[in-house]
Amino acid sequence: MSDAAGKSVALIRGNAEYQEASLEPSAEILALWKKVHNDMRGEFGEAIFRSWLKPLTLQAFYHGTMEVSVPTRFMRDWIQNHYAERILSMCSDTSEDIKRLQIVVVQNAIIDDMPSNEAPKKANENKKPDISEVSSPLDERLTFDTFVVGKPNALAHAAARRVVESSVVPFNPLFVYGGVGLGKTHLMHAIAHMIKEQSPEKTVMYLSAEKFMYQFVKAIRSDSTMTFKEQFRSVDVLMIDDIQFIAGKESTQEEFFHTFNALVDQNKQIIISADKAPGDLTGIDERLRSRLAWGLVADIHPTTYELRLGILQSKRAQLQADVPDSVLEFLALKVTSNIRELEGALNRIVAHADVSKVEVTLESTQEVLQDLLRAHDRRITIDEIQRKVAEHYNLKMADMHSARRARNVARPRQVAMYLAKMLTSRSLPEIGRKFGGRDHTTVMHAVRKVEELIEADSQIAQDVDVVRRALTG
Ligand code: ADP
Ligand code: MG
Repeated sequence: MSDAAGKSVALIRGNAEYQEASLEPSAEILALWKKVHNDMRGEFGEAIFRSWLKPLTLQAFYHGTMEVSVPTRFMRDWIQNHYAERILSMCSDTSEDIKRLQIVVVQNAIIDDMPSNEAPKKANENKKPDISEVSSPLDERLTFDTFVVGKPNALAHAAARRVVESSVVPFNPLFVYGGVGLGKTHLMHAIAHMIKEQSPEKTVMYLSAEKFMYQFVKAIRSDSTMTFKEQFRSVDVLMIDDIQFIAGKESTQEEFFHTFNALVDQNKQIIISADKAPGDLTGIDERLRSRLAWGLVADIHPTTYELRLGILQSKRAQLQADVPDSVLEFLALKVTSNIRELEGALNRIVAHADVSKVEVTLESTQEVLQDLLRAHDRRITIDEIQRKVAEHYNLKMADMHSARRARNVARPRQVAMYLAKMLTSRSLPEIGRKFGGRDHTTVMHAVRKVEELIEADSQIAQDVDVVRRALTG
């Protein structure tokens, strides 16, 4: 007899016709289950109960096995791994007859928790949930093609490429962090574009942590947390930008933590960005912080002069704007805060030239960006420049002011004038005065000459670079 029963159970497990099976639990078992189910609130807490345990439905009881159902495979696995043991002991504490707990997937079991207006969607349960409203739109311009790679972002860039090029999930999560305006969002969009291009069948979800929280709260309010969970757990790639936003938001963190684990369990790629390293995120639960550091943590460093210049060159090409190299170099020197401001500065001078129909020059740039430059002025003095140049060329400070015209003195002096123009906001006449009372046309000539030489003479280019680095640290 037990054999026959065993067989029929084996037959129906995982079968669509499950409901038709006739292993109806007795009224006694039903009442017992009802009590245990109710006690789960107290045992596991309201949040877990609502998120996971509420949909549990008793389906059958046979040979000491309690068979309960949940609406999705994912929920089954999760409950199996996290709560099943305790649920079983709750059951067997109530009745010695209960020896095992079997969790099965029955899709109709979802009905309880779904608002009635969402019920029709269940008809095509096999289809992936619609995530278009949850995911944020991608900016077309933020691709790998437009991302300029330099030392400060090389690691993050390489990691991002690995994620899109690897046929398996190379590390989970990829955690990218860095200061504001350094390219975190750009990299994430680039990954999303590339994955969509390579594998159109994949669902890629990109959104800010802020939006994640908003969606979550909305789901709770409208009693549709199941739909929310399904949406997030159905994606192939989940990207959450600026995770620091959920600091202090406990229930959002809790939900995110579950989403995170669920996706990692399914071997789905997760990419996170933040303004700090996982360990430095304050207001984020220790459990979550340590999970965030599980995969690869890649930081984006503040920009270097080379990277800034590279970005400006690339941006100039994209804008098809006529901007002289000297202006790009000037901007790369002066606007050091972040890339967003750097782009903003270039946009401003290009727009200005466009509107007023003038050419972009160093002078016009300084004028247009007066306010910005003042804020960024690192207050390098002409004295400092003269001292560093003299040091570099083994000259005396006095040679910077003297009237001597010998090449070995005159050239370094010109370099110093050039750097004074580039690194300070002093006018040409002011600079002239500091160089032994020279005329502003002499300074202008020096600036042009050194610009030419930088192009033509690699020794000079290198000298200028060394001194500039020494000055700008
Ligand atoms: P974050 O998200 O780190 O605050 P963003 O990704 O929004 O920074 O970048 C700010 C701006 O700088 C964007 O317009 C972006 O396109 C640009 N940017 C950042 N890094 C690069 C880079 N390496 N190459 C080209 N543009 C970049
Ligand atoms: Mg960003």
